[in-house]
Amino acid sequence: MSAELQSLIQSAVDQRRNFAIISHPDAGKTTLTEKLLLYGGAIQEAGAVKARRSQRQATSDWMEMEKQRGISITSTVLQFDYDGYHINLLDTPGHQDFSEDTYRTLAAADNAVMLEDGAKGLEPQTLKLFEVCRMRRIPIFTFMNKMDRPGREPLELLDEIEQRLALKTYAVNWPIGNGDRFRGVFDRRSQTVHLFERSTHGKRQATNQILTLGDPQLERLLEPDLYSKLQEEVELLEGVGEDFDLTQVHGGAMTPVFFGSAMTNFGVELFLKSFLDYGLKPGYHRSTQGDIEPDYPEFSGFIFKLQANMDPKHRDRVAFVRVCSGKFEKDMTVNHARTGKTVRLSRPQKLFAQDRESVDEAFPGDVIGLNNPGVFTIGDTIYTGKKLEYEGIPCFSPEIFALLRNPNPSKFKQFNKGVSELREEGAVQIMYSVDESKRDPILAAVGQLQLEVVRFRLEYEYGVETLVELLPYTVARWVEGGWPALEPLGRLFNSITVKDSWQRPVLLFRNEWNVGQLLGDHPSLHLQAIAPVTV
Ligand code: GDP
Repeated sequence: MSAELQSLIQSAVDQRRNFAIISHPDAGKTTLTEKLLLYGGAIQEAGAVKARRSQRQATSDWMEMEKQRGISITSTVLQFDYDGYHINLLDTPGHQDFSEDTYRTLAAADNAVMLEDGAKGLEPQTLKLFEVCRMRRIPIFTFMNKMDRPGREPLELLDEIEQRLALKTYAVNWPIGNGDRFRGVFDRRSQTVHLFERSTHGKRQATNQILTLGDPQLERLLEPDLYSKLQEEVELLEGVGEDFDLTQVHGGAMTPVFFGSAMTNFGVELFLKSFLDYGLKPGYHRSTQGDIEPDYPEFSGFIFKLQANMDPKHRDRVAFVRVCSGKFEKDMTVNHARTGKTVRLSRPQKLFAQDRESVDEAFPGDVIGLNNPGVFTIGDTIYTGKKLEYEGIPCFSPEIFALLRNPNPSKFKQFNKGVSELREEGAVQIMYSVDESKRDPILAAVGQLQLEVVRFRLEYEYGVETLVELLPYTVARWVEGGWPALEPLGRLFNSITVKDSWQRPVLLFRNEWNVGQLLGDHPSLHLQAIAPVTV
């Protein structure tokens, strides 16, 4: 590779930051996303996008917005520039669209932003997504949202993260009051107070007054109780709080915390600036050839998401690739590690360009969408140069289980083909009873929508109408050590044993409590909520 190309890749990597937002529905993800785009100059005025009621509606909202404003938005990645950085925000489907894609997207993210509603603190969906981030040890930045509403005490919010997530916190800024008495934040980096002005309504970039902590004006501007509380709390943070440690942040052991209000824009820019300073740029990925650094001269990437068109007339599918190394160029020919075939990437999706033309080039940290001619499945590696294969993407703990029945025996073949293709594509996990006489596959999903998608696609793409019978389980655990670890235990109570598509044993439970009971009965048993990766 020429020195010129090498330095082009290096500078592209240095400029890139990629992240995904993990949050519970209603915490303000849509609002924060929109505000980030506002600062990125991608939109001039926020509020044009209605709050999304469902992801599907939102997708069309984004598309509409894209058309109106000629910017690059898809429901998979939003790209914007700020302060010389090139930022990729990977969208994690939520709400009714919560599915394994939500988890898989985190496999493509270098950083995560944990968004909390300041009145609610940690919520279930956030906890689940956090586990995936923890497994990957990616840096987590916390944004405490809705400070303009009555909320919980900031110290209590930090404490909850420390206790429940065993994650150290470092408050980068500190709120002054909340709800009607929200007055702004103290930024510990610059040691300045940023006062909140309600009048902006969050439509335009917030302008605010900035004062030093010792400025006598501050005492006049704040109510006496808020002023003294601020002095006390700042002292407390400096005294007993953790010191900021970037190495721990990068290793996912400490989270920088920001307070703000996405709706009114307040604190969003302070957050963005710090994130750009402290966030990780695209780094290495583990592969069969060892760790592959982004400046490795050959192109490589892996597929983390497949999106099928729900319209049966257009059966095209898009494979989303996280670029890991080198430079992607339109029309390039790559090797497909799993099959050993070569594939020409001739029609990269129109993800980024202002005018919706196709992508001509992409760099590590970017995501490209390829029209999938049926060759790609989740976790596949594509590369040029020496053969390499990235670590696969794990199976995530399903919570919804259902028997899938085919009432029409003459459709047996189509049924099997459909089930197996949808599984390969990653639309749903499939498990089977250990009893060979029970042939109905068990659909195992993390979100309800996955079941609907499977039925819909079996009917429209494979011509098979199916019946779904929900099973009373909500928890799946893989067994460390596989079948040999289970055998000596004899009959298990409080769970049933099934096998996954790789013939590995999986235990299904009605609830978490039953998991605890079983582990109590068999202390030698080790269970995993996330399946080991299969290549
Ligand atoms: P999502 O479900 O996480 O995408 O949440 P949305 O962005 O759709 O926000 C959910 C609701 O919370 C909407 O009604 C927003 O207007 C509101 N909201 C979001 N951020 C804030 C905030 O900072 N303050 C207040 N008061 N409301 C907010």
